[in-house]
Amino acid sequence: MNGDTLYLDHAATTPLRPEAREAMAPFLDDRFGNPSSAHGTGRTARLALEEARERIAALLGADPVEILFTAGGTEADNLAVLGRWRADGGGVALSAVEHSAVRRSAARAGVEGAQVTTLAVDERGRLDPAALEEALHEPLSVVSVMWANNEVGTIQPVERVAELCRDRGVVFHTDAVQAVGHVPVSVRDVPCDLLALSAHKFGGPRGVGALYVRNGVALEPLIYGGGQERGFRGGTSNVAGAVGMAAALERAAGDRAREADRLGRLRDRLEARILDAVDGATVNGAGADRLPHVLSVSLRGIPSDVLLPALDLEGVAVSSGSACHSGATSPSHVLVAMGAEGDATIRFSLGWPTTAEDVEAAGDIFLQVADRARAVAP
Ligand code: PLP
Repeated sequence: MNGDTLYLDHAATTPLRPEAREAMAPFLDDRFGNPSSAHGTGRTARLALEEARERIAALLGADPVEILFTAGGTEADNLAVLGRWRADGGGVALSAVEHSAVRRSAARAGVEGAQVTTLAVDERGRLDPAALEEALHEPLSVVSVMWANNEVGTIQPVERVAELCRDRGVVFHTDAVQAVGHVPVSVRDVPCDLLALSAHKFGGPRGVGALYVRNGVALEPLIYGGGQERGFRGGTSNVAGAVGMAAALERAAGDRAREADRLGRLRDRLEARILDAVDGATVNGAGADRLPHVLSVSLRGIPSDVLLPALDLEGVAVSSGSACHSGATSPSHVLVAMGAEGDATIRFSLGWPTTAEDVEAAGDIFLQVADRARAVAP
């Protein structure tokens, strides 16, 4: 519960964890310094920023110098895809189910002259590595395949993608915004070259993220300024944001295995209830390795734009797909790529404050709303 709302939209954003708020507070207050300043107040901020970088790097298996702070996942994805294309001038290959931060960066690279290749996925939303092998015959600046999908939760074969790219000497970017804090993510186990993360998806503040950049990978900056973030990203550092992100990630990583088990069970129970009670309900991504806290269901025969407002009226906050597309009635590119368009689709996503009672109550309401929608469907 969040006030009167049953909030099951944690893949859109999560509330701030108490430890993140506590860690941030001094940097919003008396430790307000600019880390670039050459005095004690600045040095205090610099120390905190670098310590946050070290803690985040350690949790991802990276070197601290390989972590660049950004203003969120969108900027990290833009820097990875566009920054890579502008540095290298080769082609860009991306999966058909990438977030718009990657898709639109690739489209922009296309406008600037890049050859852009979209890699198809199967009906579970999973990339076939053979499609990538084919694409790797062309010279590429970057391959972008997300770690886990934000709409349906499908986890991609990133280890295999990393191997294929490495064999060909091609830079591999993975958008791990939905994965970090929810499934094990390490750049040692999956040797990617670029990896995007975003604090607000695991209980950190909104508006801060990071791009992991493997040592030696050339990128053209997108934001020019005072040389912060090793010249890759100008702009006065968001120290409170970085500190909050580190605190949230530490907590999320510490709780990860237990929470994946807990939320996975709640998700599975909700899924089973819906499949049992609603005729024509299907689970998007069923049978694939999926994020434990995400459930995307499509209901055949119910118009796509009736369920979400009805659930909202009943105090259940969910999404019709990705938050960036909520409100849009055209089918999402993810469902189209999976061949699953045309039905009402709802994404439930659970998070660290979600209780069994929340999921049970939301399930009750969902079943009533689906029944009513079915009764009036044309
Ligand atoms: N990538 C994925 C997979 C996402 O789900 C999101 C947010 O919804 C983003 C990127 C963008 O992250 P941010 O909201 O931090 O800009």
